[in-house]
Amino acid sequence: MTDPIRPQPGILDIALYEGGKAVVAGVANVVKLSSNENPAGPSDKAKEAFLRSVHQIHRYPSTDHASLRHAIAETHGLDAGRVICGAGSDEIIHFLCQAYAGPKDEVVFTEHGFLMYRISAMAAGATPVEVAERDRTTDVDAILKACNRRTKLVFIANPNNPTGTMISPSEVERLAEGLPSQAILVLDGAYAEFVEGYDGGAGLVERRQNVVMTRSFSKIYGLGGLRVGWGYGPRSIIDVLNRIRGPFNLSSTQQEAAEAAVRDQDYVIRCRAENAKMRQWLALALAELGVPSDTSMGNFILARFANPAEAEACDAHLQAQGLLVRRVSGYKLPQCLRITIGDESSCRRVAHAIGQFKGMK
Ligand SMILES: *Cc1c(COP(=O)(O)O)cnc(C)c1O
Repeated sequence: MTDPIRPQPGILDIALYEGGKAVVAGVANVVKLSSNENPAGPSDKAKEAFLRSVHQIHRYPSTDHASLRHAIAETHGLDAGRVICGAGSDEIIHFLCQAYAGPKDEVVFTEHGFLMYRISAMAAGATPVEVAERDRTTDVDAILKACNRRTKLVFIANPNNPTGTMISPSEVERLAEGLPSQAILVLDGAYAEFVEGYDGGAGLVERRQNVVMTRSFSKIYGLGGLRVGWGYGPRSIIDVLNRIRGPFNLSSTQQEAAEAAVRDQDYVIRCRAENAKMRQWLALALAELGVPSDTSMGNFILARFANPAEAEACDAHLQAQGLLVRRVSGYKLPQCLRITIGDESSCRRVAHAIGQFKGMK
């Protein structure tokens, strides 16, 4: 009787998530454009709240995040009772898989979808099901065709990372409407704030019983290092997720800094405008150099090269100059580089370096 110590099925098949590169050996002062971070960082109000929080750090944090949930609900016109907060939206994705998918269940996402969907599905022992996109865009018909009685969760990011593309609210609604009755549609709105006038799918959550929206403080709010995200859904689903959520999953510092951030919507508006301006500038500059990209709705551009070798060579050229962008082979896009929209000088440096690279060939 010597049974080996063994993890649950599926866990050893998980490929480790790799974050965006942050250092290059031998190069000082790198510009990190590899993780879709806000180049301006967080709002001053969030930083002040972070510093203030130190005085109460000997106390356990709120377990129900009431103050943060109310701030989120007031800002977005939502019901605070149906908001759940987590350590990044990654944790909300994880809760959804843990609570709703297990062995023999299927979790559907798209070809160029966020890697955490696969990882969380496999961690729960469920079967990941990847669906083709059409021209790097979510294909609702293909997703509906892939669904069956085993489908428990369908994840789409809108806008999507790393493609930057988006589908219309009516297409999202058609997807929600067409899912089998036992399946939940998860709308990942990590980049929703970059799209002016877009509610991230909150209205659809209100109208239906099978849609959950996730949101993040890591992108436009500039708080990736703090780890805060949230979800919004039907009361019954949020109640289930709260049962598996650790009572102290968010520190008081996380809760207080995030609350100050969400209350500073003027800052969000400024960051959205600056991002849109530089995104348009960079997309045009690269197009003129013969590097096309789809119209991006996020804070990054997916630059397309002739082939994987050219993308890799351009990445090496950028790295040698301290410019770190993201290779996206893991997203089945080996001929592309994902470039975060940095500040004006970073955008100019990237365009200049890609121009040099194109000129060298
Ligand atoms: C960055 C990102 C997230 C957010 O992750 P956090 O855990 O909130 O930092 C979620 N989904 C997508 C598609 C992302 O790109």
